[in-house]
Amino acid sequence: MSMFEDIPVDVGVVYEGERIRFKDTQVELGGERAEAKFELVRVKGLDEIEDGKISVIGPDIKDMKEGSTNPFGIYIEVAGKKVEEELEGVIERRIHEYCNFIEGIMHLNQRYDIWLRLSKKSFKKGFNSFHVMGKVLQRLFKSELPFIEKIQITFITDPKKVKKMYDEAIKIYEARDAKARGMKDEEADAFYGCTLCQSFAPTHCCVITPQRYSNCGSISWFDGRASAQVDPKGPVFAIDKGECLDPFKGEYTGVNDVIKEKTMGEINRVCLYTAFENPHTSCGCFEAVAFYIPEVDGLGIVHRGFKDVTVNGLPFSTLADSTAGGRQVEGFHGLSIEYMRSPKLLQVDDGWSRIVWMPATIKERVLDFIPQDMVDKIATENEAKNLDELKAFLQEKNHPVVKRWKAMPVEVAPKAEEAEQAVPSLEVPISGIPISAGGFEIILKDAKIYAKKVVIRKVKK
Ligand code: SF4
Repeated sequence: MSMFEDIPVDVGVVYEGERIRFKDTQVELGGERAEAKFELVRVKGLDEIEDGKISVIGPDIKDMKEGSTNPFGIYIEVAGKKVEEELEGVIERRIHEYCNFIEGIMHLNQRYDIWLRLSKKSFKKGFNSFHVMGKVLQRLFKSELPFIEKIQITFITDPKKVKKMYDEAIKIYEARDAKARGMKDEEADAFYGCTLCQSFAPTHCCVITPQRYSNCGSISWFDGRASAQVDPKGPVFAIDKGECLDPFKGEYTGVNDVIKEKTMGEINRVCLYTAFENPHTSCGCFEAVAFYIPEVDGLGIVHRGFKDVTVNGLPFSTLADSTAGGRQVEGFHGLSIEYMRSPKLLQVDDGWSRIVWMPATIKERVLDFIPQDMVDKIATENEAKNLDELKAFLQEKNHPVVKRWKAMPVEVAPKAEEAEQAVPSLEVPISGIPISAGGFEIILKDAKIYAKKVVIRKVKK
């Protein structure tokens, strides 16, 4: 029995976190295989939109091939006397939550990176048109966010139209992000928290500051403020900063208190500007991952859209698995592209001076924010495809991490059956790192491992 009589599938919080495997998928919308995808909310004047209107540009669900992947755009226009442009980002992020309330819909990621699946089961129940989805979204938006007086939704599946609107959407996201730049965390009277991702990562809580954008890259400090004002009891709320315990690490008593409360005591401390000691938690919606590369004592960054393997031979998906779930995994850190533009980016870990590798497309996007003297020292897949190439590149460019290698022991020629790989004799704090072996997962929590060298032996059969 559905929550709405005219809707063929059920709707409710119980469906949040529902995973739909490809073999159970009727149609896939957006995702890695689709060339263009986006979701966008724009605020309009009350007389500019028609409340309740739903349009579909391109093939509807019933016209799509079973098991197909399709370009996809969701364009939502809202109006209301209290609806200001600053709310666009926050209303847009709710698309993720409300889509996931629908039985048989899986919605992942955000903005230009959305990925939806509709299950065969829900399709068979009669969910064969975007009008079904539009009606549910309109009702949820108006009941959950009553300041929205009018809402009109357009679903776009026509490839050319999706691409055209995608290009426009990218410019709008960029303009939104640029707003908070220049403001400092020290100047903010409050920070904002978001727990929207707790359905997927129960111990995750984003702390959104002017200089540390949300992990998903969709909610800025201004967005957080606007949302907390109109919906103070909602998933985006104000955080009283309390006392600043360490301005360099970004540790605040108010943040620690809120994190403890929102994670039910699972996490007690968060330092905002580091990937190592008490880092910010990572949900699963992050736009990119910063990952520690012990072989060069540096950090790599990879974004969700990078299809190849990274310099350490692992793809984004594997690194994301090691990072996600609302955990604090030292050396694996979910972050947004906008945080890369922040002067506080991982400053405890040496910021840009510690970053050694990133995909060329991301480097291009944040180029103006990389210190001039570091630009040529950070490798991309074009300069280094593996660790040997990376080491040679860093040495040639005299990257700051090379100085850290001085502590490395002198390499000894390996014996025939024993290859030795030297690692820096530095203290490398590792905690919460999962190791999978023999069907078990062993999690090292708050462990510190010291090694003068790592010996890798060939196993004799
Ligand atoms: S990543 Fe953070 S800010 Fe974005 S929706 Fe999830 S919890 Fe909220």
